[in-house]
Amino acid sequence: PSPLAPAPKLVIDLERLAQLPKDKAGPLARYAATIQSQRGDYNGKVLSIRQEDLRSLAVIYDRSPVELTEEFINWGVLDAEARRAVESF
Ligand code: C2E
Ligand code: C2E
Ligand code: C2E
Repeated sequence: PSPLAPAPKLVIDLERLAQLPKDKAGPLARYAATIQSQRGDYNGKVLSIRQEDLRSLAVIYDRSPVELTEEFINWGVLDAEARRAVESF
């Protein structure tokens, strides 16, 4: 990629998230709901989150950020682009 390419974004698919079983997706769903509430951003189909938030989520899920990103891609809540966002971790 060009050095001027924008940093890849972590974009949560909120519709997909809502379809997942609570035992898996519960912590992520609560985290996303907290960010939506803090922003007052309630009507989106997707939610862009901070790279730092993936570190916090990795602690919550007791996984490395890279492993957790793969899991979220498997669940369909992040797209494959997200891999590039955690390369620098
Ligand atoms: P804050 O971190 O003090 O950010 C204040 C305001 O700066 C935000 O208001 C937003 O308008 C802007 N801002 C800060 N960082 C970014 C950024 O990376 N991108 C963009 N587009 N804007 C940014 P906002 O959105 O009303 O958020 C209010 C507060 O809610 C934030 O205060 C923060 O404490 C929390 N928050 C919102 N979204 C996130 C998030 O994705 N992750 C985390 N950890 N906290 C968030
Ligand atoms: P983008 O970042 O590629 O986002 C494309 C569309 O995805 C957005 O269209 C919006 O419908 C949705 N989207 C992405 N992240 C969020 C989110 O956290 N919450 C919600 N509710 N929707 C989200 P939209 O709003 O028309 O924005 C078009 C483009 O304008 C964005 O493309 C981005 O390039 C820019 N933009 C909009 N808001 C911000 C912002 O807060 N910060 C920055 N840097 N760019 C923004
Ligand atoms: P974005 O708005 O396109 O911001 C891209 C990156 O620019 C952010 O990556 C962050 O490194 C930097 N940045 C943008 N605005 C600010 C700011 O006000 N303060 C600081 N310290 N840095 C800023 P990051 O943190 O990974 O966030 C990724 C995306 O998550 C942002 O893309 C935005 O769409 C969303 N986001 C993050 N925090 C907030 C927030 O507080 N409020 C809102 N509305 N969106 C946020």
